[in-house]
Amino acid sequence: MTFDVTVLGCSGSHTGPGRACSGYLARADGHQLLIDCGNGSTANLQRVTRPADLDAILITHRHVDHCIDLIGMFYALRFHPKGPQPIELYAAAEVVETLTGLLSHDSTLGFGEVFHVTEVAGGDRFRVGPMQVSLADTVHPVPTVAAKVEVDGASFVYSSDTAWCPDLIELARDTDLFLCEATWQGDGDGVPEGMHLSAREAGRLATEAGARRLVLTHVLGSLDRNRSLAEAQETYAGDLALAEDLRSWLLI
Ligand SMILES: [Zn+2]
Ligand SMILES: [Zn+2]
Repeated sequence: MTFDVTVLGCSGSHTGPGRACSGYLARADGHQLLIDCGNGSTANLQRVTRPADLDAILITHRHVDHCIDLIGMFYALRFHPKGPQPIELYAAAEVVETLTGLLSHDSTLGFGEVFHVTEVAGGDRFRVGPMQVSLADTVHPVPTVAAKVEVDGASFVYSSDTAWCPDLIELARDTDLFLCEATWQGDGDGVPEGMHLSAREAGRLATEAGARRLVLTHVLGSLDRNRSLAEAQETYAGDLALAEDLRSWLLI
């Protein structure tokens, strides 16, 4: 049994130089769960696996940098050489309506044939092979879930997008690897409330959760990521790294 997570895109809000937006591939014992499908992330996905080989997809919220590549995935699965390849889609509220609003009438009908949709929210749990997935609502302007993926006592937690969030601290309690968003730098001067974390806040959140390793992700695409790393070090004393497209962490 192995259990790992691979970053497919980690640029926040918009793509960065050579960096895709949010996407993460969780794999355990031959089962594969894709978490988020931001712009550019499915190009990296196909360096690692084929869309038709996924078992399930989770979309954490309807913001473009987390869901827009699901349109391309739809075409890849619907017009697959072996015929339509249906797949389980777990999606936060408003995701499906947002995406189907971009499709033609014919494609909207086909969407439901490819994606077997389950709408999810905080408190929900589901399984993908040996992976137990638990969700928590985050603090963000649209319905958004963070996800914990566990196999045999090992886990990683992905924050998705959030401002300071006590429920996320509980979800990330003692996790082995915390992929936490760190969109902003500094002390949040001039940025809107209730949207995102700064790197210092990500570090503080990981410290309060007792996370064993912190990986900063979703740094705003235009920022100097090394400054984010330095700021998170001020509030988190554990093992700390920046997410990189196509970097993997082995959990079991
Ligand atoms: Zn985002
Ligand atoms: Zn967002």
